Amino acid sequence: MSEKYADIIVDISHDKVDRPFRYKIPEALLGEISVGMRVYVPFGKGNKEITGYVVDLLDTTDYPPERLKEISRIDKKDTTLEGDLIQTAYWMKSHYGSTMITALKTVLPAKKKFKQLETKKVIRIFGRDEIESLIEECRKKHQTAKVRVLNALLDEEVLPYTLIREKLNVTTATLNSLVKQGVISIETENFYRNPVKKISEREAAKPLSDGQQHIIDDIIKDCCRGNTGTYLVHGITGSGKTEVYIGVIEKTINMGKQAIVLIPEIALTYQTLLRFYKRFGDRVSVMNSSLSMGEKYDQMERARNGELDVIIGPRSALFTPFPNLGIIIIDEEHENSYKSESMPKYHARETAIQIASIKGASVVLGSATPSMEAYYRARRGEYKLYTLKERLTGGQLPKVYTIDLREELKEGNRSIFSNKLKELIEMRLNSGEQTMLFINRRGYAGFISCRACGHVMKCPHCDVSLSEHRNGRLVCHYCGYEIIKPEKCPECGSKYLMGFRAGTEQIEEAVHKEFPSARTLRMDADSTKSKDSYEKILSDFADGRADILIGTQMIVKGHDFPNVTLVGILAADLSLNQNDYRAGERTFQLLTQAAGRAGRGTKAGEVVIQTYQPEHYSIVHAANQDYESFYAEESVYRELLQYPPAAHMLAVLVVSKKEEDGEYVVNSFAGLIKERVTGDDAPYIIGPAKACISKINDLYRHILYFKHTDYEKLVQIKDMLEIYSKEQNFRYQNIQYDFDPMNIY
Ligand code: ADP
Ligand code: ZN
Ligand code: ZN
Repeated sequence: MSEKYADIIVDISHDKVDRPFRYKIPEALLGEISVGMRVYVPFGKGNKEITGYVVDLLDTTDYPPERLKEISRIDKKDTTLEGDLIQTAYWMKSHYGSTMITALKTVLPAKKKFKQLETKKVIRIFGRDEIESLIEECRKKHQTAKVRVLNALLDEEVLPYTLIREKLNVTTATLNSLVKQGVISIETENFYRNPVKKISEREAAKPLSDGQQHIIDDIIKDCCRGNTGTYLVHGITGSGKTEVYIGVIEKTINMGKQAIVLIPEIALTYQTLLRFYKRFGDRVSVMNSSLSMGEKYDQMERARNGELDVIIGPRSALFTPFPNLGIIIIDEEHENSYKSESMPKYHARETAIQIASIKGASVVLGSATPSMEAYYRARRGEYKLYTLKERLTGGQLPKVYTIDLREELKEGNRSIFSNKLKELIEMRLNSGEQTMLFINRRGYAGFISCRACGHVMKCPHCDVSLSEHRNGRLVCHYCGYEIIKPEKCPECGSKYLMGFRAGTEQIEEAVHKEFPSARTLRMDADSTKSKDSYEKILSDFADGRADILIGTQMIVKGHDFPNVTLVGILAADLSLNQNDYRAGERTFQLLTQAAGRAGRGTKAGEVVIQTYQPEHYSIVHAANQDYESFYAEESVYRELLQYPPAAHMLAVLVVSKKEEDGEYVVNSFAGLIKERVTGDDAPYIIGPAKACISKINDLYRHILYFKHTDYEKLVQIKDMLEIYSKEQNFRYQNIQYDFDPMNIY
């Protein structure tokens, strides 16, 4: 099947992609044209021939075909950097559901062209003798400004323009008159903004362990044979993954290729970057949200021009236009921030693999707690799996105590600290060692549990916890099931059936009450509004300016604190009871990473996990730092209920001004798919229901989920819904599609 029409953009820059022009594909070129290709087209009244890029192919057109012009010819078949980006956008559009324009805007760099920065220099043309006599001449004429410039130029042949204008206080007119006399010349030099401060310190490669060397050699051996692929490095924090990345990058650069390194924004600290700067010097740059638009644009230009070998950044750094990309590295690949929250809702892992296949590159994923997706693919042989088991700095794994909070309550302890945790904190305060207290902010969703027996109120149809609403009802946000909140625990009859709400501030207060002498620091979304404050809190703590650091998930990443010998996790199960199928996975990751913070130095560490559900597999396996056992149990659950990665899931979110309008749309969608998609193709439908957050800014949100083992079937459903909603006169603000969502709506 070959499409008959093509959308073409004649100026492929971020602010022009709104204007594609439709052309007919001539008979002779049918089947020859593909997305991303550069073609010649007649343009404007005079039909002048210009080049443009094919951004979309269509079977039909809503435009009268006889009024369409024809593509003249293909410019060249080999792809360009723009062509690669357009192909990537096209894949994102079809794979994640968005318009081509939105997808193009995601992959194209900064909004508009930025002028390059310039430096001007003043260069002496006259010889020293000539200058000296000129100085005499000017003195006599009382041209004091000229005298100042000429004096400065006696010793230096070249001086910065700004120095002369500002420090010597000389006007442009004076300088221009010297230019006219042929005494000096003024030259302008363009340069790119470079966010990396000059670092003279360089570091040579460490002697690698056998395990590290094996991974690097194996990956590079594949590359040399032209076998590109995806690799997963599973290794605890401190096991030397970063050294492996650096080793792979070094070899890639030696082959004349470039590397993209993705690191979650929050972990892009100076310490992390420094390791790359020290190894790759001027040939590495960084992208992050604190860069100006101009700086971002210039990094893209430097990459395009071959000035860079390595770019480090969050998700969006994937779209760096390297001429000969060899490798994409994704550190902490399990992080949620790798999934875009705006359309197209792409995942950096899958998109990286797609980009790598367009460019003939490989992908290396790394994590201490791989995502279920990545490990599942690795187990099925789609990715090659490597394991690094030892900490190279010699630190031992910490000793973990799991404390049952139900027992504490029975013994009459109502404080947020168990007796064990109190005792251990006290010991740290006496010995001058440090403690980290971790609270899980994600628990705020409002689940209800019994304080006496730990029973959690769940939806009987979905196996997710119910959320408490203000009207005293408990609601399932998957299917809409709701009940009135019971007075007593249905399991044990206790009246302590309630939500657990404690923020970092309450914990800090409680610490001060319990341990009046303790100096505390607090890190949460409020105390770290700016990036600087985040780094400042970490460095204050590293310098020993506090005994206890209290924080949310933010404290589980980042620096190594050798003096931290105790980590307390206050309510480990908070994240377990989100109404979300990823709750177990997220809890395991958080606990494992939090526990890994203790005992990073020479002193052994201890970890206290306080929980109402000590028997839950996420908690048991995290306490044992046992990823494989966790994976085994979690995958049974995913298989059983057909959640990703065992199957795929499509979330359709409908946002409307009037509640009944949104409800009507999701109901029609569900009805349409039930009627039209049958047999083996039929998806499993969940909902429709009100979204978890059912109203934002006065806009109502309704949700509908489809599950199917075949991703393509879900793409077809999305396509059907798109066409259907265009045909119908639905009243809605917008519809968002999210494949394999990270969060439940
Ligand atoms: P990860 O990325 O898995 O957390 P890193 O690569 O940061 O691990 O290594 C952890 C620590 O071990 C770092 O301080 C690093 O300098 C050190 N390290 C890594 N590889 C080696 C090695 N082969 N020999 C000695 N020290 C190493
Ligand atoms: Zn109970
Ligand atoms: Zn339900």
